[in-house]
Amino acid sequence: MKNLKVISTKKELKSYLKSLCGTIGLVPTMGALHNGHKSLIEAANKENDFVVVSVFVNPTQFGPNEDYDKYPRTLDKDVELAKEGGADIIFAPSPKEMYTDIYFEEKETTLVCPPYKYVNRLCGKSRPGHFDGVCTVVSKLFNLVKPNRAYFGQKDAQQLFIIQKMVEELDFDIEIKKCPIVRELDGLAISSRNTYLSESDRKKAVNISLALKKAKELKDKGIKEAQTLIDTAFSYLEGFDVDYIEIVSLEDFTKIDTINNKALMLIAAKTPETKVRLIDNMEL
Ligand code: AMP
Repeated sequence: MKNLKVISTKKELKSYLKSLCGTIGLVPTMGALHNGHKSLIEAANKENDFVVVSVFVNPTQFGPNEDYDKYPRTLDKDVELAKEGGADIIFAPSPKEMYTDIYFEEKETTLVCPPYKYVNRLCGKSRPGHFDGVCTVVSKLFNLVKPNRAYFGQKDAQQLFIIQKMVEELDFDIEIKKCPIVRELDGLAISSRNTYLSESDRKKAVNISLALKKAKELKDKGIKEAQTLIDTAFSYLEGFDVDYIEIVSLEDFTKIDTINNKALMLIAAKTPETKVRLIDNMEL
């Protein structure tokens, strides 16, 4: 196993990176690492000489009534999992290290804001400002780490789409790598937020992936009308507070009514009891 170094300041990160010679893969995370994150780290380890995993619960991507304060922070465990995955560096800064005083005084900072067209729907619609925070922190990490490649999970499909667009539109010279969703044995997409689930909600949460699987099965049988597939998926989510079920084109992420090319079904829903907002998606 490699010797993993935990770094918490930008200055130390920069000087350590300067001493390295080779390609760098970056895996941005908010910590509470699980096997989904580990798969990204492993992919980065295969394709690069060095792997940097950032662990930062980014305040600018949380809304005022979201779970920023209670988001799980488990750095000691994260170090172990990142080591197993083959990481060389964990960059775990504090909010004060990442953002300058103006953010703490005025709750404002220079932001990277993706176009309205990308953010006025799906997760961006129910989480205003979320993708501004994501693009801002990812840009900062790109500038600090200067990776050759950066690894993102298909689990956050809209985020991945927006990051790809940001890289294209802002001319970042970084290859974005898309990694498949890692699931629990019963099919539930692994998420740091699954730890919030009550026992009963954990059992019901599997219905989200079952809904997606059923839609895919019907699509494979020749059903092309998006609404029919959406209605079927919806019927699996009794008791859930469904935020959206949508089918989009894999090409440009626009909503589609009839599936003729590669499409993605996306679901966001709050669980019946603990009201944990879970997201998942599947290529149809
Ligand atoms: P997060 O810590 O939730 O911000 O996630 C960090 C990265 O891990 C993002 O690119 C996510 O899409 C990815 N990720 C989270 N859960 C999974 C999963 N179950 N499978 C694959 N990638 C994941």
